[in-house]
Amino acid sequence: MTAFTYDALPGRVVFSPGAARTRLHAEVDALGATRILLVASDAESALAHELTAPFAGRIAATFTAVRPHVPIETAELARDAATDADLLLSVGGGSTTGTAKAVALTSGLPILAVPTTYAGSEVTPVWGLTERGRKTTGTDPRVLPRTVVYDPDLTATLPAELSAASGLNALAHCVDAFWAPRRNPISGAVAEGGIRHLLAGLSRGAADAEARTELLLGAYLAGSAFAGTGSGLHHKICHVLGGAFDLPHAWTHAIVLPYVLAFNAPHAPEAASRIAAALGHADPVEALRDLGAKLGVPAGLRQLGLREADLDTVHGDILALAPADNPRPVTAEGVRTLLHAAWAGTDPAGEAP
Ligand code: NAD
Repeated sequence: MTAFTYDALPGRVVFSPGAARTRLHAEVDALGATRILLVASDAESALAHELTAPFAGRIAATFTAVRPHVPIETAELARDAATDADLLLSVGGGSTTGTAKAVALTSGLPILAVPTTYAGSEVTPVWGLTERGRKTTGTDPRVLPRTVVYDPDLTATLPAELSAASGLNALAHCVDAFWAPRRNPISGAVAEGGIRHLLAGLSRGAADAEARTELLLGAYLAGSAFAGTGSGLHHKICHVLGGAFDLPHAWTHAIVLPYVLAFNAPHAPEAASRIAAALGHADPVEALRDLGAKLGVPAGLRQLGLREADLDTVHGDILALAPADNPRPVTAEGVRTLLHAAWAGTDPAGEAP
């Protein structure tokens, strides 16, 4: 018998090549904004000013001090900059969207998000803040952007390596959605679609406009699936590792994902076969391993500079955070084996932990 509870999320999405240049002004008008805080990192601020030039008179202030994982000090500075604003307009990747979310969390200001990576944060009500090296996340409907303008043209400047890492990070949202706590038939269908679009883009190396459109559509679906289900075992592991050792977010996801899939797949045969079908391969772990190798994913967390001894320091946190209803019971030994395999970069398809 199928039975589920599903909270559909509100939000308007405009998706089109060129949309950031042709549709943004109308979307700002639709929100009735007259005093905008523009949030964009230093690297994206020239682009952000170009996109907002047609309504430059309504930009009350620009916040560029964006930092990865939103340190609390960054959030405070951004909140100060937003004192007189009536709209937060973010142009950038997940760190930029996250900065706007930190402001919305305390002010309730609406966000219009213009993503430039495949992070997917723009369609989730999840916020993250880092204080003294520890990242805290939470869910609040106030941080969910009111409008998202997706424009695949904006990802043309992503270096190939970043594009691959970001696309694989989106793929991780889709795969983890199959066993995350609030999994449901809608998130499963969305995640399957996300995998197909992401694979289509990643297989073409994100080199052309069509590949980038596939990737951005896949990223939207991936973020939507993740928003509906919450974090599964994979995200919990990456969250702890990333927060503790300041590892590169997207590469950490790309490395760890095949190991979590190998860990769970025998205990979640229906999910494994749906993931396999979407990846177009009989064995989903092999498919992810081969895709990662093709895209230059580092072989193992050790290549990110992590020491093997570091794994012991996060083992307890991961065990404590692992979802209780993960398809395979998460034991101390299971986590240890999984982490050491992901660290060493042993073949995830060869020796399932
Ligand atoms: P990021 O935003 O830190 O950007 C990575 C780098 O890419 C930066 O140097 C940035 O300047 C550059 N960049 C961005 N767009 C570019 C473009 N079009 N061309 C060239 N360079 C560009 O990284 P990210 O992977 O987008 O986001 C990661 C963050 O997002 C993490 O903190 C993660 O926790 C968070 N996140 C949150 C959610 C959520 O639901 N809350 C979901 C996914 C990710």
